[in-house]
Amino acid sequence: MERVGVVGAGIVGLAVARRVALTRPGVRVSVLDKELRVGAHQTGHNSGVAHAGLYYAPGSLKATLCRRGIGLLKEYCAERGIAYREVGKVVVARDAREAAALDGIEERAAANGVPGLRRLDAAGLREVEPHAAGIAALHSPTTAIVDFPAVARAYADDVRAAGGELRLGFEVTRLRPAGSRVAVASPHDELVFDRLIVCAGLWSDRVARLAGDDPEPAIVPFRGEYYRLAPHREHLVRGLVYPVPDPRYPFLGVHFTRRVDGGVDVGPNAVLALAREGYRRRDVRPADLLETLRWPGFRRLARAHWRTGIEELYGSAVKSAFAARARAFVPEVSAADLVPAPAGVRAQAVDRDGSLVDDFRIGRRGPVTTVRNAPSPAATSSLAIAEWIVDRSG
Ligand SMILES: Cc1cc2nc3c(=O)[nH]c(=O)nc-3n(C[C@H](O)[C@H](O)[C@H](O)COP(=O)(O)OP(=O)(O)OC[C@H]3O[C@@H](n4cnc5c(N)ncnc54)[C@H](O)[C@@H]3O)c2cc1C
Repeated sequence: MERVGVVGAGIVGLAVARRVALTRPGVRVSVLDKELRVGAHQTGHNSGVAHAGLYYAPGSLKATLCRRGIGLLKEYCAERGIAYREVGKVVVARDAREAAALDGIEERAAANGVPGLRRLDAAGLREVEPHAAGIAALHSPTTAIVDFPAVARAYADDVRAAGGELRLGFEVTRLRPAGSRVAVASPHDELVFDRLIVCAGLWSDRVARLAGDDPEPAIVPFRGEYYRLAPHREHLVRGLVYPVPDPRYPFLGVHFTRRVDGGVDVGPNAVLALAREGYRRRDVRPADLLETLRWPGFRRLARAHWRTGIEELYGSAVKSAFAARARAFVPEVSAADLVPAPAGVRAQAVDRDGSLVDDFRIGRRGPVTTVRNAPSPAATSSLAIAEWIVDRSG
């Protein structure tokens, strides 16, 4: 029997394993994860937004797979009874320069086929989000909020129901060729697969290197810190309220996100994490930090963007500075309204020349396919990423 292994029980790895299990009769799929539960990292620490595809370059993998992915995700959540609510999103322009930038976003969104887009003036914005302030906004009514950890658990159930297996607590520490196949070892066990698909998130570059793949791009971990609006201030936001993003970065800027549990998150910022899974400021792993500092791409990135880095650190250390960023487009918010909330860490691939890899990047070397860059909106796009990987592999 043909055997396919998937490294990583995050939402991408589980979607890939599910697609193999459902579409390849006679193939046995095994999902390996070092953690004892599914969705333990990025999948369980994100904003919970099903992105409609506003910002991404038309024709890019992000644009194509996000548009296909959100449709598949919506259907899937309806079938499985998973929370999915189209609360809508506004991108708020505060001045003429930002309003001009909205034109570019609107053009891209239209080219990507985002449905229902509306341009709002200041009064129109107040009808959608009464406490947001701006001179103009772009409204995407189909942008939704979703319970991604529940989606990941449901994919895992599908894998098992279709005859696949999850091996949790299996940390992949070595890969070696075994004829045309690949042997995958943990410190305690070794399994041999005909095909291996690596969806290792924050560790994807390291697992890729185990397979003899190029060190480029390297993962640089960026912590995204959140606050939550105090319950008596949740009425300040109905759905999703975003600033106009800085086009130099793939991050969307501190924004307001209503959650499926009813609360409202404010964040995330983007500060360098001093450990790959460094969820708290005090989490430092010297080996991880050294690896980041040694990567020529990181040094180039730091030289080019040190000013933004310092601003982000300041916003991280000083709550009133974080609140000021949020207040810029929802003026009634003050630092006293913000309660600390758990952070996430993004796996952001950085090329040797210092550029942040913008698009999804997926490579193949012999029997091993590796997802090298799957930042936001990869959770939204997971079912489409799975189709893309599984349906084109022979
Ligand atoms: C702060 C933040 C906000 C975000 N907001 C959104 C959003 O609103 N909408 C959206 O669509 N996307 C969002 N994203 C992006 C989204 O969360 C990720 O794109 C997605 O979760 C990636 O899934 P994954 O399966 O690739 O990675 P992960 O969920 O990180 O899973 C990777 C898995 O691989 C395992 N692993 C790693 N190395 C090994 C090894 N050696 N052996 C065994 N197992 C290993 C890990 O334990 C982990 O479980 C956000 C991300 C962050 C961090």
